[in-house]
Amino acid sequence: MARYTGPVCRLCRREGEKLFLKGDRCYTEKCAVDRRSYPPGQHGQGRHKVSEYGLHLREKQKLRRIYGVLERQFERYYDRASRQTGITGENLLQILELRLDNIVYRMGFAASRAQARQLVMHGHFAVNGQKTDIPSYEVRVGDVITVREKSRNMQLIKDNIAAAEGRAVPEWLEANLEQMEGKILAVPTREQMDISIQEHLIVEFYSR
Ligand code: SF4
Repeated sequence: MARYTGPVCRLCRREGEKLFLKGDRCYTEKCAVDRRSYPPGQHGQGRHKVSEYGLHLREKQKLRRIYGVLERQFERYYDRASRQTGITGENLLQILELRLDNIVYRMGFAASRAQARQLVMHGHFAVNGQKTDIPSYEVRVGDVITVREKSRNMQLIKDNIAAAEGRAVPEWLEANLEQMEGKILAVPTREQMDISIQEHLIVEFYSR
């Protein structure tokens, strides 16, 4: 399963904002966006005029990077979103939000989506009692996500849960961190998806 393996802080600096790809570090003064708030590379500090195309492209890249999805898979998601009824941009965000790795992160079992992805791949979670180790697995309303029995004493998961205590879980999810389980209550609406993306720019990117 392919994934981006390069330096992640560079991605935030390219987008000019925090994408919260590294978990706890993102909230410290070590964050690269805070320390070097200009794009990476030799010409990062030069002056750049952004074209309309560039604006659309950057928004698409930003969303792709937040969820850690590679280009081809992202295109497939867009294709699906555009064929569904409803608003394409919102459909796209919903597809991304319902990925199992995102759910594990949102519920508080992982410090970042990248870490959630790894924990899922290593078989630490079950969906409706069935071991599920595919990060892109799409959950449905009513699905119950649990930390598997064999992983309940894993220090990393315990630490993540301790750090997540008191952190708000999106209202479309239910998380019982003590019981190490959570449930999908609904498909999120646009207002419920806490993500600073102008999805109409992405739709324009693909409508060229
Ligand atoms: Fe992005 Fe986090 Fe790195 Fe800051 S620390 S640049 S938010 S990944």
